[in-house]
Amino acid sequence: MDKTVEELFSFIEKSPSAFHAVETMRQELENAGYHQLLESESWVLHRGGKYYVIRNGSSIIAFRIPAKGFAGYQIVASHSDSPSFKIKENPEMEAEGHYVKLNVEKYGGMLMAPWFDRPLSVAGRVIVREDNHLAVKLVNVDRDLVMIPNLAIHMNRDANEGMKYNAQKDMLPLYGSETAKGTFMETIAKAAGVKAGNIVGHDLFLYNRTKGCVWGAKQEFLSVGRLDDLQCAFASLKGFLKAEEGDSLPVHCVFDNEEVGSSTKQGAASTFLYDTLTRINEALGRTKSQYQQALASSFMLSADNAHGVHPNYSEKACPTNRPYLNGGVVMKFSANQKYTTDGVAAALFREICKRADVPVQVYLNRSDVPGGSTLGNISGTQVALNTVDIGLAQLAMHSPYETAGVKDTEYLIRVMRQFYGMTVREIGYGCYTI
Ligand code: ZN
Repeated sequence: MDKTVEELFSFIEKSPSAFHAVETMRQELENAGYHQLLESESWVLHRGGKYYVIRNGSSIIAFRIPAKGFAGYQIVASHSDSPSFKIKENPEMEAEGHYVKLNVEKYGGMLMAPWFDRPLSVAGRVIVREDNHLAVKLVNVDRDLVMIPNLAIHMNRDANEGMKYNAQKDMLPLYGSETAKGTFMETIAKAAGVKAGNIVGHDLFLYNRTKGCVWGAKQEFLSVGRLDDLQCAFASLKGFLKAEEGDSLPVHCVFDNEEVGSSTKQGAASTFLYDTLTRINEALGRTKSQYQQALASSFMLSADNAHGVHPNYSEKACPTNRPYLNGGVVMKFSANQKYTTDGVAAALFREICKRADVPVQVYLNRSDVPGGSTLGNISGTQVALNTVDIGLAQLAMHSPYETAGVKDTEYLIRVMRQFYGMTVREIGYGCYTI
């Protein structure tokens, strides 16, 4: 298997929840010599220093300060969360006196059908009482634990005529037989290495256990869960760590809660990025005006996966802009600015890709469908700067098992590496250099 694909699969396997995705990145940053900053403490920063800061355990911003100072910020934003089912409080439900199932609710807008009939497990975090404080512990019940079985065709002859799924009835995972009653939190506690009685809070989600695979006549495709958006988060981190030092301050930024609108304290609509950039500015003794000048010479890649043209539904794609798997990085446009890309940002991004020797494709929605939204336009309300929305072409977005091209991750890493090492500067009215 291609080394990059192998690394991507390993990154995703270690990241069954947004909390784990941030922990996976935290470990890679620690291994690369980055120092953790806490929002609750004052920051002492040095030129040449390498740092990261985490909010809520599920969003992370890493940056390094060029030794010779910097003109602006080169920022990549992606997201750590994926659609799933969240375990509710008091989750156990008895059925028929013979089964124990779990009460769950939807997190984000997923395709529900592919959650049936495949081994699932539970991951997230628990909050435990320890002596005189509360401590957050990550938990992953790392075995096949629950399943959402379909109703047999014999009991629903219309099953292939189009199904409606009710999240409160159809999607409740089976956890055990009647003997499993009262054991769910014990199972979680055991996996977390804590006592069930000490758990006083939790954020737990279902995840798909099916491992990543490479397939196709020439092994041109790959499938795995949470490609949206861990493929971009992975590429951003790799590019960030590999980039050479330029005249800009590189910022690797991964937000939680994109799938539910980003309006949380750690989402793209929050002050997390603004707070971090202004605190860097302040710690380096720079004025507010210097911060604003730096923003004018900054650029952001809002990196979130894109829809490739589907072989069975080619009519669903825009007639003239048709991205394909393995065709390179996708730039996304929308006249109503659901995607932030405009003519200037597109021109700058095309130049970056040219220098990285990576092909660029374009995605637009059909003019008669509303399409989705992403990070860039939301983050822009807190930190306003030239932004381009990009991603990699994939199929089955928001299924628990998504499909992409084997070449594209490497393309994106190359673009990110190029981007982080360069400077986009506004040198006059309507005039830019890179
Ligand atoms: Zn996404």
